[in-house]
Amino acid sequence: MDKLRIGDFEIAPGEQRKIDLPVAKLYTDASVSLPVHIIRAKKPGPTIFISAAVHGDELNGIEIIRRLINQKKFKITTGTVIAVPMVNVYGVVNQSRYMPDRRDLNRCFPGSAKGSLAGRVAHIFLNEIVKHCDYGIDLHTGAIHRSNLPQIRADMADEETKELAEVFGVPVILNSNLVDGSLRESAVKNETKILLYEAGEALRFDEFSIRAGMKGVLNVLQHLGMTRKATATKRKKNCSIYCQR
Ligand SMILES: [Zn+2]
Repeated sequence: MDKLRIGDFEIAPGEQRKIDLPVAKLYTDASVSLPVHIIRAKKPGPTIFISAAVHGDELNGIEIIRRLINQKKFKITTGTVIAVPMVNVYGVVNQSRYMPDRRDLNRCFPGSAKGSLAGRVAHIFLNEIVKHCDYGIDLHTGAIHRSNLPQIRADMADEETKELAEVFGVPVILNSNLVDGSLRESAVKNETKILLYEAGEALRFDEFSIRAGMKGVLNVLQHLGMTRKATATKRKKNCSIYCQR
């Protein structure tokens, strides 16, 4: 199995580490980097990204990733997990959904190397992270003062995506069309199967949403054969509500 190259970093099979991936500087000339956690098993297998805070004020996903990678019993037996807890790191600092240039990062994909601040971050995230991945789970919340029931949004017309959406194991699954400029649209073009998890509200940690999300991520990893059975709990069958939109 080859070394995984992200930016100037090379991560070998069996290695687990955090890297700081440089992204566009602030207009004050201050350097900014994306924290990226990479966990690689010695055995080859699928590569999956888990991302949060593409909208900087959506905090539950940050906590889901923090708990996941700090879990002592969390071990990957095959493949690679790439966890990016704060894709819009600028928005997290400003407690804002948006980028400092007032753009919505989730409408700026695929972006470009010499584009706007948001476009550059989108470009780096797509080319350094998503390009390596067979699968992805993007973690979101509802808006400010609007708490969403834990739900998966996915392209249910795609058989494997549908299967993963069901495996995730939350009560609501929305069949959701791809939005222009979204991370999901670019991921699909890259043939990365992607689920979007949305739970709770912006600027709040919600225990129920965090636990449901964590369990869902573990269910998917187990289904893909990347973890041992003990780390994930059995999913309940026949508990999903399908909504067509
Ligand atoms: Zn969001």
